[in-house]
Amino acid sequence: MNPAAITLFGLTTTSMLLCIALAVAWQTFGRERHAALWSAAFGLSAAKWALSLLALWTPQADMPITLATVILSVASFALIALGFRRRAGLPERLDIVAAVGGVTIIFAGTAVVSAADIGISRALVLFFCAAMLIASAMSLRAERRGGHRLTGGAAFWMLALFASYDLALGVLALCVTGDPSYRVYKMLFLMGLPTGLFGLGLFAMFLLAADLAEAMRQVAALDPLTGILNRRGVEQAAAPLVAQCQRHGRPLAVVIADLDRFKAINDRFGHCIGDAVLQCFAQYVGGTVRQCDLFGRLGGEEFVLMLPETGADEAVEVMERLRRGLAVAVSEFVPSAAISASFGVAMLDPRGGTLADAMQRADDALYCSKIAGRDRVTLAEAPAMAAQPVVPRKAAA
Ligand code: GH3
Ligand code: MG
Ligand code: MG
Repeated sequence: MNPAAITLFGLTTTSMLLCIALAVAWQTFGRERHAALWSAAFGLSAAKWALSLLALWTPQADMPITLATVILSVASFALIALGFRRRAGLPERLDIVAAVGGVTIIFAGTAVVSAADIGISRALVLFFCAAMLIASAMSLRAERRGGHRLTGGAAFWMLALFASYDLALGVLALCVTGDPSYRVYKMLFLMGLPTGLFGLGLFAMFLLAADLAEAMRQVAALDPLTGILNRRGVEQAAAPLVAQCQRHGRPLAVVIADLDRFKAINDRFGHCIGDAVLQCFAQYVGGTVRQCDLFGRLGGEEFVLMLPETGADEAVEVMERLRRGLAVAVSEFVPSAAISASFGVAMLDPRGGTLADAMQRADDALYCSKIAGRDRVTLAEAPAMAAQPVVPRKAAA
């Protein structure tokens, strides 16, 4: 068997395997449309290489097979680019891709049918593939879903490299004149293409896996009932705020809020209404605080806020405003019962104080709000003078 047949056989089976792997990934990783597009692209690619292999033994059918491979190449790389745009959350622009692909097929097909220099046809297809790869790489740069940076960066450079190879090969195809130069072209073609194709499929799989991991990370950091951060998410997101406070001595206010007599709301109106109140509270607070503030649910009816660049007095003022507006904001669910919350505010100690320490002091201050009659804001003492609450905890029950 000649080397061309071996390479074409390898390209056919590799493409087929990538098609199957991507179809399985589509089925398993949440049926993302771009996974289906990529799977279809490798399916078309497998068909193209199988036809090219067939052409080695049926020289009489060379023209129709070459025409079919032109169409399959264009369609396959168009699907790759459409998949990348889809994944990035960008408009697919099927019209533009179809128009450019159509023009490429017409001109490359005409070159094949008119038995003109086959190099023109090859070059046109290679230029189209390079354009689709460049469009795919640009989609990675412009993606709106904020994917994984390392995988996205590596995939970008792989696409850029593959596109450069296609462009260079296209130029070479135009320059091929005699037998020796054709041999150089053929050698580069057979050497580079399997690597590029395999790299493309591998990175498509990597991107799907990385996207899934990212989605899982996000889900793990969110509270399913309210959609805001959960305890884990708050701890993760708080790390840079705490670091900034400790490094530059910037103020960071930590607030713990707890809905008052929430058990009674559940008992009186039912758990569903209780859930709706929690959702409404989260929406109200989330819509009231600044973008740079951190807000999450610690569990049950207990929430945490972190306000960077906010001094103690300002934090108390903000919480007071929030507390006063609460009854109105949540009243639509339980008009016959006043909803209120108690707040404890503490400042993170910039001299090496931990977040756990600030949260503990905010919790102690919250406890003071509860025993003082609820529906109020209490500021914890400054860290150096922090003291245990005077009243024993069980008295607040
Ligand atoms: P306090 O004013 O002292 O905070 O009294 P409380 O009733 O709010 O506090 P307690 O700890 O006694 O009760 C909290 C209640 O919150 C009990 C629990 O059933 C309810 N709860 C916790 N998580 C959820 C939830 O996800 N949905 C609903 N509807 N209720 C919840
Ligand atoms: Mg409560
Ligand atoms: Mg509670």
